[in-house]
Amino acid sequence: MLLTRRSSETSPASSSSLVTSLARGLGRAVPTMDRRAFLRRSGLGVGAGLAVSQLTLVKKVQAADAAKAASGDKKVVVKRTVCGHCSVGCAIDAVVENGVWVRQEPVFDSPINLGAHCAKGAALREHGHGEFRLKYPMKLVDGKYQRISWDQALDEISAKMLELRKSSGPDSVYVVGSSKHNNEQAYLLRKWMSLWGSNNCDHQARICHSTTVAGVANTWGYGAMTNSYNDMQNSKAALYIGSNAAEAHPVSMLHMLHAKEIGCKMIVVDPRFTRTAAKADQYVRLRSGTDIPFLFGVLYHVFKNGWEDKKYIEDRVYGMDKVREDVLAKWTPDKVLEASGVDEATCLQVAKTMAENRPSTIVWCMGQTQHTIGNAMVRASCILQLALGNVGKSGGGANIFRGHDNVQGATDVGPNPDSLPGYYGLAEGSFKHFANTWGVDFEWIKKQYAPGMMTKPGMTVSRWIDGVLEKNELIDQDSNLRGCSSGAMRRTRRRAGSR
Ligand code: SF4
Repeated sequence: MLLTRRSSETSPASSSSLVTSLARGLGRAVPTMDRRAFLRRSGLGVGAGLAVSQLTLVKKVQAADAAKAASGDKKVVVKRTVCGHCSVGCAIDAVVENGVWVRQEPVFDSPINLGAHCAKGAALREHGHGEFRLKYPMKLVDGKYQRISWDQALDEISAKMLELRKSSGPDSVYVVGSSKHNNEQAYLLRKWMSLWGSNNCDHQARICHSTTVAGVANTWGYGAMTNSYNDMQNSKAALYIGSNAAEAHPVSMLHMLHAKEIGCKMIVVDPRFTRTAAKADQYVRLRSGTDIPFLFGVLYHVFKNGWEDKKYIEDRVYGMDKVREDVLAKWTPDKVLEASGVDEATCLQVAKTMAENRPSTIVWCMGQTQHTIGNAMVRASCILQLALGNVGKSGGGANIFRGHDNVQGATDVGPNPDSLPGYYGLAEGSFKHFANTWGVDFEWIKKQYAPGMMTKPGMTVSRWIDGVLEKNELIDQDSNLRGCSSGAMRRTRRRAGSR
């Protein structure tokens, strides 16, 4: 598919051309100009975008505000926020009238979305105003839900939790946070659980990307995406494996499509021919779950042709000689074909594209992480990038597309069962550090926990059901789980409903 649209027709100095270029960037019916120029001008663009869109919005709001004020109504304000529907993190201006969010605009001066929005983001306001949104606490009474006050809800829940704590110990309660919580909320929830006296807390990043965190951290020390969505504009080649970004992270494709316009080669590896695959220069269909044979099949050709970055490996990578030995001995083209269904010529072409177009990046998502061998798949992806010398470079790295808007933050400082915020772990010394930070006596925190449980990891969100159903003598805590945060249910329903 031809994505390049170029024209020599420009007159950059005039303000009208500025408007024209912005309009063209929005895909409106105006004479064409290449998008690269459009982006360059968005450097202007920040000012220009503001002039044309944001200021227009602000002016409109100010005018409306003045009218409201004249009629005695309250203020209309614009609050900048972030779309919470995926990890791209598109910026949004929310127009709030009399305390009610009445409409929204995508933000032009955000380097991430550049004024773009997808259908999911456009429906963001529905979270607050959708007809199915719960607006107040409800209590099930005789089989029917009844509206109750917040005070009643908080009193009853607190009393029930204290009752469970008294009869069955602090570990009888399970609390699930969220990767949609911001850093402060996530941190506070971990703090709250520590003061309650249990490590039975988690959040949904356990299910989507814990394999990434473990796989990446075990490869280069820290479990996070190495680059950023908009940095992909600097990539010369991109290998998508286990990601259908066009549907799951739509606005991220903006950056890839821009990169393609100046020659970036896009490869999509997926058992299905997805909407993302439809944009690829090369599509590779592999047998589901055979990412490692395929990636090692690509590495085979990298090593065979001497395309690895020898100096980079010598300077910065430990153990690549063992990988090389293993790949050349075991992942010969016939074995790769047998395991993954991908033939030699295809693997060679992928290796050639990634090697000849550096910096090249790799993108993965839950197509890798949710396999039972997700950790190992992630490590194989990292190893390919290390062999090519792509890590630590703009346009290269591992672009790991997470599901929610704050998976990384919730993982770093949030309610993890095996660690206090910031990966401090659960050692006594870690609790002492946080006792000091929180201004609470360490011995008091220790007494909140059941004996011996303070330094033991709690249950993960993927196994809390075992905490309910398993025989009590087979679990390490006083009692089985007897209460679970309704937040977990709510998030689960929301995710299920959004598919
Ligand atoms: S790409 Fe993601 S963050 Fe951006 S508008 Fe769509 S759902 Fe929201």
